[in-house]
Order: sequence, then C-alpha cells, then structure tokens
Amino acid sequence: MGQYTPPMRDMQFVLFELLDVEQMIKAIPKYADLGADTIDSVIEEAGKFASQVIFPLNQVGDREGCTYHADGSVTTPTGFKDAYKQYVEVGWPALSSDPAFGGQGLPELVNSVVMEMLNSGSQAWAMYPGLSHGAYTALMAHGTPGLKKTYLPKLVSGEWTATMCLTEAHCGTDLGLLRTRAEDNGDGSFALTGTKIFISAGEHDMAGNIVHLVLARLPDAPGGTKGISMFIVPKYLPDADGNPGQRNGVSCGSIEEKMGIHGNATCVINLDDATGWLVGELNRGLPAMFVMMNGARLGVGMQSLGLAEVAYQNSLAYAKDRLQMRSLTGKKALYKPADPIIVHPDVRRMLLTQKAYVEAARAFTYWTALHIDIEHNHPDEQIRKDAADLVALLTPVVKGFITDNGYEATTLAMQVFGGHGYIRENGVEQYVRDARINMIYEGTNTVQALDLLGRKVLGDMGKKLIKFGTLITDFIKQQADQPTMKEFTDPLGALLGEVQKLTMEIGQKAMKNPDEAGAAATPYLRIIGHLVFAYFWARMARIALDKIGDKQDSGDAFYVSKLATARFYYAKLLPETQFRVSAARAGADTLMALDAGQF
Ligand SMILES: Cc1cc2nc3c(=O)[nH]c(=O)nc-3n(C[C@H](O)[C@H](O)[C@H](O)COP(=O)(O)OP(=O)(O)OC[C@H]3O[C@@H](n4cnc5c(N)ncnc54)[C@H](O)[C@@H]3O)c2cc1C
Repeated sequence: MGQYTPPMRDMQFVLFELLDVEQMIKAIPKYADLGADTIDSVIEEAGKFASQVIFPLNQVGDREGCTYHADGSVTTPTGFKDAYKQYVEVGWPALSSDPAFGGQGLPELVNSVVMEMLNSGSQAWAMYPGLSHGAYTALMAHGTPGLKKTYLPKLVSGEWTATMCLTEAHCGTDLGLLRTRAEDNGDGSFALTGTKIFISAGEHDMAGNIVHLVLARLPDAPGGTKGISMFIVPKYLPDADGNPGQRNGVSCGSIEEKMGIHGNATCVINLDDATGWLVGELNRGLPAMFVMMNGARLGVGMQSLGLAEVAYQNSLAYAKDRLQMRSLTGKKALYKPADPIIVHPDVRRMLLTQKAYVEAARAFTYWTALHIDIEHNHPDEQIRKDAADLVALLTPVVKGFITDNGYEATTLAMQVFGGHGYIRENGVEQYVRDARINMIYEGTNTVQALDLLGRKVLGDMGKKLIKFGTLITDFIKQQADQPTMKEFTDPLGALLGEVQKLTMEIGQKAMKNPDEAGAAATPYLRIIGHLVFAYFWARMARIALDKIGDKQDSGDAFYVSKLATARFYYAKLLPETQFRVSAARAGADTLMALDAGQF
C-alpha cells in the first residue's frame, strides 16, 4: 500500500518562514485574529484525516473504480462514501467559506494546504469536494441573492456536491463551439437540453444532491464564446424548504473507462429539458465560469503537488531500503550483501529532481493562494490590484508547469522502484497514471502556455510580467551584500534578463506572424516556470543559509537539506532554460513547413 506522512515541517517552513503568512494575513482585517497556532492545528488535523482516512482508499479506488448502474446511478469505490460522510461531519468543506453561509471563514490558503494533503491521500477522492468548492466560489461571485441562499449553505456544509459542465463531444478547448441549448421558461428559469461529456463527479452516491454549473447558449445568442451563458442545474430541484425535491431532467448516460483517477466518476451528462437558473449575466457565462476555472487551475496544481509528494516519499523510502550493487566509491553498507540504491548518483538525481520540484511547487502554490486571499480581501486597493495581476499572470504557470513536473516526478518515482514500480503492487505506477490527466483537463497545458504568452504577457505589453520581475530584482538587490547568495542571485538575474529579451523578440515576431507566438508558447511557459522556481529556491536558500550560519555540516538537518536541494536545482534543473530559450527562439518555420498531407 505504500506510505504517506503529511510533510508538516516543510509546510510550516513555507507558510511561516518563507511567506510569513501570519503577518501577511494580519494586514487583512477579517483575518487579523488568525494566528499561526490555529493554522497549524487545522493543518495537523487535516493531515491526520488525509493520511489515516483518505490515503488507505487510494488503491481500492483505483482497482474498483466507479460502477455505473442501468438506472443511471453511480456507486463510488468501497469506503469513498463513508470517508466523505466523515469529511462533512467534521466540517472540512466549510473551511474557507463565508460564515454568512455556514463557512468557517479561513483563508483560501489554508484550504489549499488541506487540498495538497487530500490529493496525496487520493486525487480521485479529493476531486469530489474540490469541485464543490470551485462552484461555491463562482456562485459567491456571480449568483443572485436567491441562488446563494438556496445553494451555498448546502455546498458549504458538503451536503451537496457540484460539477463544472463545459465539455461536449465536439467542443473541448474551443468552447465557442458548444451547442447545449437554454430556452427561457418565462418564469425566471430556463430549460436546458444537450449532452456534456467528461464531467468529473457528475454522478455518484456520496451526497444528497449534485449541482451542475452548465455552459449553454440561448437560441438567439451571438455565435462563439460571446453567446455563452452559465446556469445552475441541480439533479434534484430544491423544494420550498430548500431540500432535494423533484428529480430534474439531468441524468448520467454512462461513465468513462480511463487511464487513471478511477475512483472519480467521469460522466456523460444528459440534459433533457432540465430546469436551470442563470448565474451571472446573459452571454457572459464564460467570465463567470472563469472564477471556477481559475480556482480549478490552482487546484490542479495542488493535485500534481500532492501526487508528486506522496510518490517522492515512497521512492525515497524504497531507495534507502533496496539493496543493489555497490557504491562506485566503495562499500557503504559493510555488513550487507549490497548497498542501498540511494548511494548511486543517478538514483540521487531522480530523488532530488522530485524533491526540488515538490518543494518549489509547494512554495509557489501557497504563495499564489496567499495572493488570492490578498486579491479578494486586502483593504488597500493597489495591493489588491498587484496581487490580482500576479495571480492572473502565474495561474497558467501553476497549472502548466507544476503538472508537467508532477508527471515527470511521478515517473521518476516509478523509475527508482525499477521493475517493482511498473507492477501494480507497490502502488507507484498509479501515481503516474493519475498525474497524466492533470496536464490535459482544466485547459490543456498547451492552452495554459498560449494563455500565459498571448493574453497575460503580450496581451498587456508585459506589464504583469514586469511586476513579477520587480519582485525578483528587489530580492536580488536586497542580497547585494551577501556573497554567499551570489551562486543563486547571479543566475536568477541572468535568467530574468534573458526572459525580458526573449519576450520582446517573440512579441515582435508575433506581430508579423501570429504562429510565432503559438510556436514559442510551450517552451516559454517552461522558462517562466523555472524563473518562478529559481526565485523561490533563492529565497529558500537565503533562509537556510541564515539558519545554518557557518556551521554547514552541523546545522539543523532540515536547512542543510533545503540548501543542498537549492544547489541541486540551480545546477541540474535550471539549465533546462538554456535549451528552452533556443527552442523558443527557433520560431515557427520548422513547425509550419509541412502541409497536413506531407506529414
Ligand atoms: C478524466 C477527465 C475529466 C474531465 N473533467 C471535466 C469536467 O469536470 N468538466 C468539463 O467540462 N470537462 C472535463 N474534462 C474535459 C477536459 O477539460 C478536456 O478534455 C480538455 O479541455 C481538452 O479538450 P478536448 O479533449 O476536446 O481536446 P481538444 O480541444 O480537441 O484538443 C486536442 C489537442 O489539440 C490541442 N489544441 C486545441 N486547440 C489548440 C490551439 N488553439 N493551439 C494549440 N493546440 C491546440 C490541445 O492542446 C490538445 O492537445 C475532463 C476530461 C477528462 C479526460
């Protein structure tokens, strides 16, 4: 079954030493009384729940999967329903929701930390509550007071769960093609007809009602994305008391057989004159849905962080235990027939790559979640705006970079296990299969790259990127009198300079030929991802250097490990940017040379 221990020490390091969350949060009046102790105890309890209740379900969920029944119902794997009941009873769904609707009013950041651990426990399971929280945020932002009153308390308590229904058979990336129809019933409601596919958590047995947020278009709506509206469509129509009443015209037609996340039901959802209510303005459904999608993009980053963490923990334990061959520099385990494989440089490369990606991803995602809290709640308008710009710029990087790395990290974890990783018994191959979807859904990583380069960087003449660049240059300036930091700040500054030059070049080429942006986008996202990771690794190295002082060998093992990982990252992973810069510069010509028939 493997093992999972919540990485409390590293979480606390990121929260309280790197991000100084306690002070940052205190600047927000509604969190002014929130201390590190409260955050700590919430995380500790959540860690117990994730490791003791959810983690044991992971392999069961994978093996059993969900079951579709002839009447359209779906049962989740053994233990999923009971775990969800416990989750609701303790009040976890309410953690970062508004007290006006029964929430506990903690920052989104705390919820994100909890989600990391739930994803390490079981991504398939964590998707059920994760989607509900996303729908909560969209309804909070765009729901009418009536819709909020009916639906939010049920979503906040976890009695009901939610989905996001965008995809149709002919329309995935290009939502402008969607055909699901909504007709005005003339009584404030709409009748929706159409078929959605690939709907995660679309049907299951864990909650009393399922609330679908559905994108659809009115018959006279403009074509493309400008004619899309968002509707709330419950499986059971709420009765006069707000409880599940009459069955609505929404049903699950089938569930998909798929590569991973077997415990999460991926459903065909048929809407047949289903009653729904408009959320947000008519024909402005996409911006309304983007509230949920942006949250979900951070959520998908947390999924890959959670998977990479648990895969790393297991491969590390295996590497310390598995005996094969002797160290190149002579026997290390003198009384054993061979040395543990952790002595071999290349096994260390695989372990350290995972560790470096996981720890930087934790810093980056928590920082992003903190900035979402600042964006929504800080009293100073300029600070809110700056946070919003940084979150907008970096959300595609969280989604694209962390999920690419998550897949690589889980594959490396499997490789550390050798053949024992490829077979099912050890559980590590499941992490590879589960991690793969994160690069595809919630907008493929290509779409994230296009969003980053096209909309977030070139689309605003690089203003948001300059804001992030200023954080880096300020940090480098602060380190100017620290010779020990030069090994980090020199390459960090050089990469920032390279990014500025490259961005200008791509921008100029793209003005003449838009394919140039399409050709550069994916390497560009990886370069920005590394710029972000290099920034956080430099900051973490600075803390570690301070703690270790000049006792490099005898300092606290945690900081020694942190500093060594920062050095590994700079030496072995950051150089990826060199070939990505070359690839981005190489332009579109070689990609566009062939006609489709010439491939
Ligand atoms: C397990 C699972 C769960 C899912 N859950 C949900 C859910 O809950 N709700 C929901 O609505 N959807 C869900 N989806 C759907 C998912 O979001 C889509 O599959 C995804 O957005 C891609 O759409 P598509 O599959 O139609 O691929 P397409 O859009 O057909 O894309 C195919 C390929 O073309 C590339 N491509 C497309 N356009 C461009 C372009 N302009 N430039 C460059 N490359 C391009 C894509 O990146 C991709 O590689 C889920 C899918 C799966 C498999």
